Amino acid sequence: MEHIEFDDNLCDEKLVDGTIDASEIQAAVLRILQAVGENPARDGLKRTPERVARMYAELLSGYKADLNAVVNDAIFEVKYDEMVIVREVEFYSLCEHHLLPFMGRVHVAYIPDGKVLGLSKIPRIVDIFARRLQVQERMTRQIADTIRDLLHPQGVAVVVEALHLCMMMRGVQKHNARMTTSAMHGAFRANLATRQEFLANIGRGASPL
Ligand SMILES: [Zn+2]
Repeated sequence: MEHIEFDDNLCDEKLVDGTIDASEIQAAVLRILQAVGENPARDGLKRTPERVARMYAELLSGYKADLNAVVNDAIFEVKYDEMVIVREVEFYSLCEHHLLPFMGRVHVAYIPDGKVLGLSKIPRIVDIFARRLQVQERMTRQIADTIRDLLHPQGVAVVVEALHLCMMMRGVQKHNARMTTSAMHGAFRANLATRQEFLANIGRGASPL
């Protein structure tokens, strides 16, 4: 299996090895329950530390996901060189500043240069990066960089639209709770018409978040 190197310079979480220490999470959640003045022994809370530990293992499973294993059998050689667009890939992530969810959808486009990726792999790639402690800007870049490094396409573009619960629930700047980020490489960066074709496509018939 060919190993793929990624030259991502937003890689401040690469040192994380993805091992989740469930008993540490349980102990920490127990302390939070005590710290907010709750009674961790009452029925509804008794198993909460355990549930939260299991939840984090799932929500943060992206750290240890093996990208090469996920995509390896799904890169195909083709002659096709028109824009490929995958719209409205749903995602759920956790903001690294508050550990609260942000969620929305990802739009991906690329112009192949001899290679395409099986369509079902785009949501898998999104999940690998969403299921980490994230900021939306970095997640957007990581998805774009990954597709660039996998396919070496003529161009790749990623737009992420998301709602951030840390802004909505805490009642500050509610109007900023919705955020759009983008990352463009190659033809999408160099060529205005290409970029506009993609943005017009994802804007058409889009439902509100
Ligand atoms: Zn936040």
